[in-house]
Amino acid sequence: MARITIRVEPWHDDNSRCEHAVKPSGRPRDPESGCTGRTAYAVVCSEHGDVGQPHHVKVLAEPAATEHRQEHRAALATH
Ligand SMILES: [Zn+2]
Ligand SMILES: [Zn+2]
Repeated sequence: MARITIRVEPWHDDNSRCEHAVKPSGRPRDPESGCTGRTAYAVVCSEHGDVGQPHHVKVLAEPAATEHRQEHRAALATH
């Protein structure tokens, strides 16, 4: 069975993925990087893709990722 990975991906205001280094405030670390800052955090599952709606703060996205991970664990346990 393929390994499932669930991660939190930060997004920019225009819904593109942010892979820039940012400060804890969410503002870009390098003003030259073209980063517009992180405005949403999406939970992404390697099997299901985007899980639910993006969250506006990381502290809400992380529990959603954990919850989804637990759903997978529960599903595997029934097989
Ligand atoms: Zn960025
Ligand atoms: Zn999933």
